[in-house]
Amino acid sequence: MPYKPFKLPQPKDREIIPSYKCFCCHDTGLVAVPQDLPGGEHYQSTDPSVLCVRPYCQGADTYYGGLSGISAALQEGRVADCATAQECQDLHDRELADWHSTARNKIAQINAALDSNFFAL
Ligand SMILES: [Zn+2]
Repeated sequence: MPYKPFKLPQPKDREIIPSYKCFCCHDTGLVAVPQDLPGGEHYQSTDPSVLCVRPYCQGADTYYGGLSGISAALQEGRVADCATAQECQDLHDRELADWHSTARNKIAQINAALDSNFFAL
């Protein structure tokens, strides 16, 4: 029987869902894609970054070193607090659902590859 080499998934292939906890700001404290916020189509790259205010997100706290750092950044106009908690939560939920869908597709591809290799032996 001819030998058919079996290719194991590479490490990068196994990481199908990112490790960050907040899918709105990717744990940076700043909304990753402000254009996806309601009215975000007017967002320009020269505009200040938008603060993530998703409930339970620690990104901004970590990045700015707590509330005083966030307040200073807001006062200096380095960030804007124009997003609401609900908008950030919606962005988080949407991106997380997208990743779940991507992960399901990837798992289906891996299973199909495993099946075809298994029956080829
Ligand atoms: Zn966040």
